Amino acid sequence: MKIVLLGAPGAGKGTHAQFLSDKYEIPHISTGDIFRANLKAGTPLGLQARSYMEQGLLVPDSLTVDLVLDRLEAPDCENGYILDGFPRNLFQAEALTKALAEKGEEIDYAIHFVIEDEAIIRRMSGRRVCERCGATYNIHGMAPKVEGICDRCGGAVVMRKDDAPETVLKRLEVYREQTEPIVAYYRELGKEAIIDSDQPLEEVRAELTALLGENNGCNG
Ligand code: AMP
Repeated sequence: MKIVLLGAPGAGKGTHAQFLSDKYEIPHISTGDIFRANLKAGTPLGLQARSYMEQGLLVPDSLTVDLVLDRLEAPDCENGYILDGFPRNLFQAEALTKALAEKGEEIDYAIHFVIEDEAIIRRMSGRRVCERCGATYNIHGMAPKVEGICDRCGGAVVMRKDDAPETVLKRLEVYREQTEPIVAYYRELGKEAIIDSDQPLEEVRAELTALLGENNGCNG
């Protein structure tokens, strides 16, 4: 099962991706997490991506597309994957479609999490992330059991630098201009599935399960 997650920053893609990854036993591939890990490790990729990320801008396609397409060749992607944060513009969406078509494959679902801007801003001010494993939390309702400590790995749970209010507004603008057009792209391909993301977590999960079915061990 090959899934692309669509929706504004703060719409809940990362949170729901974790659930889907656990339930359907397919990897959660987040380009934002990959860039953040590179930034933390001080790799050349991280250094190149840094200034774009800190300004809320997209990292250039030349640094992004091959990185993801290579990742999709890894053995753990054999039964599918969940792409979170990629594609982020039409060029990336078309590159993905083309690379998959060359292997006789296609995306199965583009799940579009819909939410109002006001709710996004409220959520992002409360969002926290584990520095070590990338698990996401929210101090409004989905806090770690011990404040500041990751439930999963014990790492430090902190606010992302690019969740600062000024950067959030920039990221929303970039989303509207560059990323939103790919919603129509996947709609025209007949892949878009709309999920109302501004409802309790359990209800979103129930809708996702209704859409994708239970994991019956044959998700390839
Ligand atoms: P995210 O965690 O998905 O919100 O991504 C954080 C930041 O990483 C974005 O604001 C971009 O600067 C960068 N980024 C993540 N994914 C992409 C992508 N597919 N293309 C370009 N930049 C990206």
